[in-house]
Amino acid sequence: MSGAKSVAPENRTVIGLTFGNSNSSIAYTVDDKAEVIANEDGDRQIPTILSYVDGDEYYGQQAKAFLIRNPNNTVAYFRDFLGKDFEHIDPTHNHASAHPKDVDGAVSFTIKDKAEEDAEPSTVSVSEVATRYLRRLVGSASDYLGKKVTSAVITVPTNFNDKQKAALLAAANAADLEVLQLISEPVAAALAYDARPEAQVEDKIVVVAELGGTRSDVAVIASRQGMYTVLATAHDYEFNGVALDKILMDHFAKEFLKRNPSAKDPRENARGLAKLKFEAEATKRALSIGANASFSVESLSDGIDFASTINRLRYETLSRTVFEGINRLVESVIKKAGLDVLDVDEVILSGGTAHTPRIASNFSNIFPQTTRILAPSTNPYAINPSELGARGAALQASLIQDYEADDIDQSTHAAVTTVAHISNAIGVVSLNAAGEEIFVPVVPAETAVPAKRTVHVAAPKDGGDVLVKFVEGNTHIKVTKPEPKPKEDKTAKVEDAADSDEESDFSDDEEEEEEKREKVWKIGNTLAEAAIRNVKKGGKVEVTVQVNADLSVILTTREVGAQGGVRGQLNA
Ligand code: ATP
Repeated sequence: MSGAKSVAPENRTVIGLTFGNSNSSIAYTVDDKAEVIANEDGDRQIPTILSYVDGDEYYGQQAKAFLIRNPNNTVAYFRDFLGKDFEHIDPTHNHASAHPKDVDGAVSFTIKDKAEEDAEPSTVSVSEVATRYLRRLVGSASDYLGKKVTSAVITVPTNFNDKQKAALLAAANAADLEVLQLISEPVAAALAYDARPEAQVEDKIVVVAELGGTRSDVAVIASRQGMYTVLATAHDYEFNGVALDKILMDHFAKEFLKRNPSAKDPRENARGLAKLKFEAEATKRALSIGANASFSVESLSDGIDFASTINRLRYETLSRTVFEGINRLVESVIKKAGLDVLDVDEVILSGGTAHTPRIASNFSNIFPQTTRILAPSTNPYAINPSELGARGAALQASLIQDYEADDIDQSTHAAVTTVAHISNAIGVVSLNAAGEEIFVPVVPAETAVPAKRTVHVAAPKDGGDVLVKFVEGNTHIKVTKPEPKPKEDKTAKVEDAADSDEESDFSDDEEEEEEKREKVWKIGNTLAEAAIRNVKKGGKVEVTVQVNADLSVILTTREVGAQGGVRGQLNA
């Protein structure tokens, strides 16, 4: 971050920020606990929108309300345009607000942001819009904390490239904000959970589903003793919160037209459309809490008021395609990481759309029961999905605020980006009660290096000379089919099938028991063998595996409580 704004550590007041296309949030830490703070309107999810009326600048929820009456001077959905050329942006979401324009290849908006009636509209670049917006966020944070906020950790999607990051840094610096670090959204969410006092730091594979308004980003992360490694990511711009709004907008517009056959379609007029959208979003949120929700708009079209209700089941049926799209996204990224759902210990639902109960319950069906699904509707200990990113960012900010800017850059970069990690587990071969060889992992797969782990393995009952075999291990999924059905039905069934495919499919489904899938270790390549002499009866062997940054491995083994031992080094 050379050349970027930097503040001396002793002069810093730090916050964590999320800066989304739809909403932004601010958090800070007190006594190592992160809290999301409300802006002057009382909002913790602050719409990422600016609006200008008679030269006054409005932001957040107030600006959002102006989408109905003042759309042309309201700028929304602009975060993803930072650092991009005009020809590479997708302006789909800007049709009902100020339109992005091509000014020498740069993305800009033309808005009336001055008080004078006859003033020419201004052309404002997306960087300038971001700066103005961030200035407002920082202003709200400073007001709340009673001192000037100087610095922040900001979350970004995992697919933000260097140009986008540089543009965000520049926009923040121009708003007089030092950026301590940009951290990836899924890592921030994982951090928010792992930093809770009751959390146990354990090795785990975590899927973070970041479900927002305009995008759904999913990441698979390996968490190894507090180090996070992003193993795979997937991004989608179709199955998102806005798509769910659209489903409700269409549903109610159709109902309105049915009741008022001679009225104009509210979707064909900008104001009607904006009203539909505003209310649809509120109805959608209400359906995350209750089984029913109302929808009511004054003067929706041709001066006709409209009021209706919808229940959650109906909404879920209408939204099936979106929910299924999200399921597929999650499944695809696990596959991309070379893993199976059985490998996943935890699924963190993050972002506004993650409040949707059906999305969480679908995940409960995709993953085995042993996987924790961390969403409000499935787990009482879940953290508000809308607050995870900001909390994680604030925690990271408080961890690094005492470092000089240059040191932060060097020391913490790797922890939140992809670092070298081993692909197979390293462990030793032991015998189970039945005398079969089994794999005992010492360093799990996907552990970021360097890493050092020690385990104690029971020696054979009678002691004596023990051979320790160091091996690589990997898991595979063992599928056990249910017992086949008795034969006698078979002919009848084949005949049925010939009669009607559908029926036989259905009855098959009903009768068939589910196959059993379990994760089992497979012993892979032998790395080394070491003999330990004269282990005493009932003794234990200590095994240490150290993987260096260059992926060379040092293996050590000795009898617990005894002198000496065997040490060997393997090159990468
Ligand atoms: P993006 O960058 O993808 O546009 P974001 O990160 O800026 O999104 P979020 O606040 O995470 O924004 O997500 C916004 C979306 O979440 C909106 O579509 C909003 O309607 C939806 N949302 C917010 N709260 C709820 C809720 N309680 N139930 C369902 N959806 C919700």
